[in-house]
Order: sequence, then structure tokens, then C-alpha cells
Amino acid sequence: MPTFEDLEKDWRIEKIEQVILTGERPRLAGSNARLGVHGKEVDCPLVRITMGGHTGYGWSRIPRKTAEALIGAGVRDIFCEERWIKERFCGIQFPLLDWLAKARGIPVHELLSGRKHDGTLEVPGYDTSLYFDDLHLKTDAEAVALLQEEAMSGYEAGFRAFKIKVGRGAMHMELEAGTRRDIAIVNGIREAVGPDCELAIDANNGYNLNLTKRVLTETAQSNLLWIEEAFHEDDRLYRNLKDWMADRNMQVLITDGEGHAAGPIVEWAEQGLIDAIQYDLRDYGVVDWLPLGKRLAKSGVKAAPHNYGGFYGNFASAQTYPAIEGFFYVEWDEAQIPGIDTSGYTIQDGKIALPRTPGFGLHIDDAHYDRRVKESGWSAAAGG
Ligand SMILES: [Mg+2]
Repeated sequence: MPTFEDLEKDWRIEKIEQVILTGERPRLAGSNARLGVHGKEVDCPLVRITMGGHTGYGWSRIPRKTAEALIGAGVRDIFCEERWIKERFCGIQFPLLDWLAKARGIPVHELLSGRKHDGTLEVPGYDTSLYFDDLHLKTDAEAVALLQEEAMSGYEAGFRAFKIKVGRGAMHMELEAGTRRDIAIVNGIREAVGPDCELAIDANNGYNLNLTKRVLTETAQSNLLWIEEAFHEDDRLYRNLKDWMADRNMQVLITDGEGHAAGPIVEWAEQGLIDAIQYDLRDYGVVDWLPLGKRLAKSGVKAAPHNYGGFYGNFASAQTYPAIEGFFYVEWDEAQIPGIDTSGYTIQDGKIALPRTPGFGLHIDDAHYDRRVKESGWSAAAGG
């Protein structure tokens, strides 16, 4: 259980600032089964809190009015032993955890896990960038070649696990042609990256049960690690799929839970129908992921927090990996944002190496941040 005795009890939130910083992915991200082109631009609503002479930075969508109401709150109002951060302050949990870790001079992973790492902490991550970038191409052969090239650029960047978007026939292509192309791409990427990498597919609910079985059959040679959001989660359909896989001695894991997840999804996972839960890391929040991970681990269910479109979540996932029980793989959506130095993090042999820097390990250019807040952000402060 965390304790907060070391914090001066008269430390209060003096200031909360926010600005949306924007940056870019290395290449444009295409469509998925249910959405159009995702594009190159990424953004990060970055909040800075000032309290007791320390600052903490972190992702937060807190509205200005809500932030204003938190000014003047003391450390005893904010932190609590039962769940780290009280409900009312969870909207700024990432900057608060950064602040707390910095106040103690330790990385967030050490703060949350309570474990010190003598060497460099490395956590497994996967390249999540393989979208429908091929829709303009006439033949499957050209599409396979393009996606192989994209996977290999991830390989060269250090990844050894890849997630491939599938479900082309759900909306963007004719059903049969799209399904055939999905299968060709998955098997083509396996050929390109070799037998030792991990591959997963994500249909964004663009398949149905029969399509799922067909794709799993025709990609069996590619040895998939998991299939994500094959169709909208349904306990009857997942039980059918699980039984069908068991009959074939197929080991592909079922993962689900991002977006508008079904209410009983955690219970279904506990019943053995889903192998990993994928609530979003930022929206669901670390504070709630910590007890959920514990609960899931009791039934052997993995935690695989969603993080696409989540520049900040790359680092937040890596830092929370050791603390969230059963954390499977960090979803990495590579991007760079001017003013945020991410160079403390490196990727090699499929592992993300974390910096030893206090907090979330990102170096924010304060002058750049100040300037951007003045230009397009806001600041809420005591007496102002
Ligand atoms: Mg997904």
C-alpha cells in the first residue's frame, strides 16, 4: 500500500496548465475496418501541475473549469493509500504521478511497482502501425509487398512483435476480395519478419464468427499470437470460437475491450472466453488498471491496455508495465512531438528500454511549453 508521509502536508496545487501539443508519425497511417485514414498527425493534451515547488507533466483532457476547482487542494486531499489518487483528481492522474515520482526522485515504474531496478528496465512492446495502407493498390501482390516493407521498417526500428489491421472486407473493399487480401498480407508479413517474431491481428469488429474461423484457418501457418476485436464481444460467439479452436489445437489468444466494451466483458474473460482485456490506458487510467490487473491475474487473464493514437501512452504504458499485473505487451504507436524529448527510451530486440530519469522519463522543454500555453492553452492558478 502506498504511503505519503514524506509529502509536506501544506503543499497545495498552485497551478494547472494545459496545451495540446502536436507532432507526427514517421508515415501516414491508413484506414482500419471501421474508420478512414488516421493520418500522420498526433496530438497530446499535456497538463503541467505545480505544487510545493515541483512540477509534473502528463496527459490529461481535464476541462479548464474542472481544473480551476482543484486549485488549492492539498496533498492529503489528493493522494490516498487505498488507490493512490482520489477519484476527484483522477482526471490529472498522469501529471500527478509524474509529480510524485519527481518529488521522490524515482521513475514512475519504481513508484508504482515498489521495486527498484538496478540495471535498465526493459519491457516487451509491439509495433501497432500496420494499417490499411494498401487500399489504392490493385493487386494483392502489391499490397503484400507494401505491408512487408512497412513491417520491415518496424523490424529495423527494433520491434520483434507486430499487430496487423485486418477486416478490409468490412467496409473498404468487397467482402471476398478484402478477406483474401487480409490473409495474403498476414502470411506475407510472417514470411518477411521470419518465424521468431510475434504477430497479432486486429479486425476492429469487422469480422463475424465464420469469417474469423476462415481467416484463422488460412493464417494458421503464420502462428498468430492473438486476434483482437474479431467481432463485437459476445459470450456465445466467443465460446463457440474457443471450442472450435480447442478442437483444432489452435492457440491463438482472444483479446478485446477497447472502445465501447460490453458491460460483462471482465466476467466473460474470467470465464475463460477472453484472454486479455484492452481498456484504454489513458481513458480508463492507471489508477483503475492497477486493481483490475490484480483481479484479472487471479483467473490468468492478461492486461493489454489499448494505446493507439497515444503518443503519450507509449511511455505511460512502458512505465506502468511492471506495476499492472499480467501486462502483456506495450502497444507502441511511434511518433515525435516537438518540445518533448523522448530520447531516454530506446527500442531494441523487441524490448523498450526505459530511462532512469525521475517521473515518466520524458524531457519537456519548459520554455517551449510556456510559449505554447500562452499561444493556445490555458492556465489556472491560485488567485487568478
Ligand atoms: Mg484495437
